[in-house]
Amino acid sequence: MDRRKLVVGNWKMNGMRAHLDEVEAIGRVAAQHPAVEVGLCLPATLIMAGSERRGAAFIGAQNCHMDISGAYTGSLSAEMLCEAGASWVITGHSERREARGETNEDIAAKSAAAHRVGMKVILCVGETIEVRDAGRAEDVVSQQLLASLPEGAAADWLAVAYEPIWAIGTGRIPTMEAVASMHAALRAALATRIGAEADKVRILYGGSMNGDNAADLMALADVDGGLVGGASLSAAKFAPIIEAAD
Ligand code: PGA
Repeated sequence: MDRRKLVVGNWKMNGMRAHLDEVEAIGRVAAQHPAVEVGLCLPATLIMAGSERRGAAFIGAQNCHMDISGAYTGSLSAEMLCEAGASWVITGHSERREARGETNEDIAAKSAAAHRVGMKVILCVGETIEVRDAGRAEDVVSQQLLASLPEGAAADWLAVAYEPIWAIGTGRIPTMEAVASMHAALRAALATRIGAEADKVRILYGGSMNGDNAADLMALADVDGGLVGGASLSAAKFAPIIEAAD
């Protein structure tokens, strides 16, 4: 199955107007690699300005509310983010599952809300180090994926990101064998719900991906790209990852 590689930067709570130069530089790198779909999930405050300077990269958000509007002080709906210029949104990042208590049901609802307004979704899943050490990672993450999967999930609007929590921002990554095995398990889990469509869904790896390990990770059969935190904050660090995907 020929799946177009997807490489997405997650800027988290980083980025001021001064960093829009990096958005522009990354957009230029994206233009040099049309075979790769490249995006940047910016803090909400930069989405509008970032969309004007995105070049060939898409702009995404990092979270959305599950309702369309209402009395939710401080929250942003998918429709608002979409109007601001975000065409994708990350749902279920472990930093929100853990710190904000987001449940699988919340994540399915947020993903569905984003789809209803025409946005695409990167749905994140991943295990703790305790679960990995107990040898239960594939079972736990597969169940997490199925429990957070929105109704009608399809490859043209949904991608999955496997992000082991213990690999995020730590410089540690699983072995290549463990990544390959997890991605195959996740695709098999998807197939139990959406059948042959699972072959088309892009499954990204995330967690300390960088210019040194990206090529090996993305050469694995079921790894269709990356969700990149720290190494996406500058074009200099992000470019080698985009190149590795090409
Ligand atoms: P990292 O973050 O690349 O800085 O480890 C990845 C993520 O949390 O999406």
